[in-house]
Amino acid sequence: MRIVLVGPPGAGKGTQAAYLAENLSIPHISTGDLFRANISQGTPLGRQAKEYMNAGRLVPDEVTIGMAEDRMQQEDAREGFLLDGFPRNIGQAEALDAFLRSHDLKLDAVLDLEVPEEEVVRRIAGRRICRKDSSHVFHAEYQRPKTEGRCDECEGELYQREDDSEETVRKRLAVYHSETEPIIDYYREQGLVTTISALGAVTEVTERAMTALGRD
Ligand code: AMP
Repeated sequence: MRIVLVGPPGAGKGTQAAYLAENLSIPHISTGDLFRANISQGTPLGRQAKEYMNAGRLVPDEVTIGMAEDRMQQEDAREGFLLDGFPRNIGQAEALDAFLRSHDLKLDAVLDLEVPEEEVVRRIAGRRICRKDSSHVFHAEYQRPKTEGRCDECEGELYQREDDSEETVRKRLAVYHSETEPIIDYYREQGLVTTISALGAVTEVTERAMTALGRD
């Protein structure tokens, strides 16, 4: 299956993507994670991306599209993939369509995770992420780790993303509304979108998502 996950920052895309990708045996491709890996390795691409990310802005398409296409062409993505955080504007959605067309492929579904705005800010401000595995996500109030600052699953150090400050979150939300939301209509016209609520327990949201994908 080839799936796109959309939703505002803090909707739980990364968490859901990790579970869904495992259930569906396809790789989870997160452009945010790819940028963060480049930043921690100090690559030129990482240096370029960092200033945009810390300002809550989108990294330019020239950089992003090539990186996503390289990843989608790797061996493990031959039978499908779950895209998390890509595409994020109409230009990227059109580039993805062109890429898929040129490989004789199609998207199967677009899952739109819906969450109220005030919940987004609460979720992100307390979010703590494991340095070893970014799908291990905790929350300073709602999902505290057993040991302060350590991941329950792999003992990795927990940290707060630089772009998770309240000011940057508000900027990221504004960018989401103006640039990313239009892709939902773009895909709706192709009959691909299912909107599900991202509220409730992580497992409940995963169940809703699997039902939406016809895999319950
Ligand atoms: P995420 O981890 O998906 O929340 O992404 C974190 C940040 O990485 C975003 O706020 C953007 O600055 C950048 N980013 C991730 N994916 C994209 C994309 N598809 N296009 C442009 N910038 C992106």
